[in-house]
Amino acid sequence: MKMKKPAILFLILALLVTSLLAGCTGTGTKTPEPTIEPTEAEPTPVPTPRPPMKYFTMSFDDGITQDARIIEILKKYNMPCTFNINTGLFGVRWDWVGEVSGNPNLLHLRFTKEEILGGVYDGFDVEVHTLNHPSLAGNYGNNISAIISEVGDDAKNIAELTGIAPVGMAYPGGQESDTSDLVIRTILENTDIRFARMAVNQKKPSEFALPEYWMKWYPSCQIGNIATFKSLAKKFINAEVTDHDLLFYAWGHGYELDNNKCWEQFEEVIKMLSEADDIMFVTNAEFYEIFKDEIPCWKD
Ligand SMILES: [Zn+2]
Repeated sequence: MKMKKPAILFLILALLVTSLLAGCTGTGTKTPEPTIEPTEAEPTPVPTPRPPMKYFTMSFDDGITQDARIIEILKKYNMPCTFNINTGLFGVRWDWVGEVSGNPNLLHLRFTKEEILGGVYDGFDVEVHTLNHPSLAGNYGNNISAIISEVGDDAKNIAELTGIAPVGMAYPGGQESDTSDLVIRTILENTDIRFARMAVNQKKPSEFALPEYWMKWYPSCQIGNIATFKSLAKKFINAEVTDHDLLFYAWGHGYELDNNKCWEQFEEVIKMLSEADDIMFVTNAEFYEIFKDEIPCWKD
């Protein structure tokens, strides 16, 4: 077929227009337009100021059989609590505790793994107390791998038992000599543990101060010292919140309640606290979660 020149020109023009139209209407293959990011940055949301509050938290150490009776009482008053356990000592009985306490019949017997799997601590906060309850600084000194194993492996075991990974611990022994800068840095650098409770009480417990550092969290009082626990609880109930948060932290061991025959008084204090309508009752882990960005773990 032969074409005249104007006809060829017309055909070229027609092809050009068709291809241009295809590009514009989307009937042909087309590279998607890049999404244009807004040039202005989103404004940073201003956190709602949290009004100062009164917080009560509690913990019991060693994972011993008296914890079941404590839990029975706490459930009656809907009171949360933290339990620090040693997963390397399941079912172990410590007769020396009774001997040291001057009461040879005093029972210090840890729950077995099966009992814990059976749900002894269900609904409560379970945190680390190390595998075997050594003095981390006193027994292990510079043995970094032993410190990591005692803390990290206990945490791993607890996560397997409860389905919740621990974020905190209580130092076995809990005295100044049971921890050290090296112990704290080793824990922070090698495990997920971010708070650690001492067994040394605050010097001025009736000020109800928050911890200065998470890794040396000094409590208010020991529960076995029932008269102090009761009088501080009364002070806390009557305390007025001004411009800062208040924290009442009570800690202990279940066997102390047997040894001091103060189960009824313990329940009385728990009931009294639970009836206060201006106190937030939290586990150690819940308290940490609320204040984790406001309190440093340790010195820089
Ligand atoms: Zn202990």
